[in-house]
Amino acid sequence: MPHIDSWIPVAPGSDFTIYNLPYGAFAHKGGVRLGIAIGDRILDLYALGDAGLTEGVCDRALLMATSLNPLLAAGPAIWKKLRLHLAALLRGDDRGDASLRERNADGFFVEQRAATMVVPMEIGDYVDFYSSLEHATNLGKLFRPNSEPLLPNWRHMPIAYHGRTSTVVIDGTPILRPNGQRTPANSDGPVFGPSQRLDIELEVGFVTGPGNRFGEPIPIGRAREHIFGLVLVNDWSARDIQAWEYQPLGPFLGKSFATTISPWIVTLDALEPFRTNGPGQDPAPLQYLRGSDRSAYDIALAVDLSTEKMREAGVAPITISRTNFKELYWSMLQQLAHVTVNGTQIRPGDLYASGTISGSQPESMGSLIELTENATKPIHVPGGEVRGFLQDGDEITLRGWCEQGEFRIGFGTARGRITPAR
Ligand code: MN
Repeated sequence: MPHIDSWIPVAPGSDFTIYNLPYGAFAHKGGVRLGIAIGDRILDLYALGDAGLTEGVCDRALLMATSLNPLLAAGPAIWKKLRLHLAALLRGDDRGDASLRERNADGFFVEQRAATMVVPMEIGDYVDFYSSLEHATNLGKLFRPNSEPLLPNWRHMPIAYHGRTSTVVIDGTPILRPNGQRTPANSDGPVFGPSQRLDIELEVGFVTGPGNRFGEPIPIGRAREHIFGLVLVNDWSARDIQAWEYQPLGPFLGKSFATTISPWIVTLDALEPFRTNGPGQDPAPLQYLRGSDRSAYDIALAVDLSTEKMREAGVAPITISRTNFKELYWSMLQQLAHVTVNGTQIRPGDLYASGTISGSQPESMGSLIELTENATKPIHVPGGEVRGFLQDGDEITLRGWCEQGEFRIGFGTARGRITPAR
């Protein structure tokens, strides 16, 4: 890959090199503006469109909107054209387009640290899959210890549930410990109160572009055209509430209280150099789920934990899990083909999360219930504390990035700190 620098400085190790150009939205004078991340700044797409610097590339209304939905609906040809144009405006050599650089460029950029990011799309539907073989096996053992961990359908379809869009929140939003019903400890019936087994789920979600027509499934060979890009997702889970409620219809209040996403949507175009093969599938899936070679992405993932005591003592967060998105058994293309096979509609801005991404190693599990084997082997934290599940004041940060030598792109963070139940 040829080395290209932007004229906006990018620090070594930054997630936001010129190869990335992810899309987000930030609060601006009582409204919302769209932007792309470059280095530690945001290029204001409203200002760019308003100045006529995207003439002939796309309708400026797509960039001057208050959510990404119009751009998501515009489809892959426009996305590619815009990406090439933005890269040309930002590249530092003489092979780019100098029109932005020649302006008083200050008016087009804001500092990321001074910006308040918001969820960049209006999410119509949110689905959470269960696509990691390791995670499904581990959870099966923990939730149903006396039976076969994988249910008979698991290797034949990407299992999922419909989640809740209203509580999808952006990086940094405090997470209120949920109240709810827990499994009866005795014959007196269930206990009500704050969850005592609050957990995380390390996931990656895709954001959809153009939808399909009602009644017309998206064939797997066309699924990629309907995916704009990816975000990190923390599907916070109250395991005690989940365990009591989940049969027979699946997760409900144990999940719906909050779901955190990272603020920048990293596009499939940016991720293309990191496209790779996923694990083999046995048995071969049904015909409508076949044909997704090289549909995995090599994305390194990490989970960091810091407790209130650690922060008071000035101790840096510790990394409690490392895994990779490419480990998932079911691909995004299979997920999307499956979602629509019955003719249901997807729409621009839908969010489809992968399910917890767990690897085969003990330190590669994407949830605390797996990492600590249901709190029986708690994590030892600097300062002498231990953690089975999350305590009030704990902060979890998900990170994700792709690297080949000096070539790097990343997702930023999906952070959340637990606040006490009300
Ligand atoms: Mn999940």
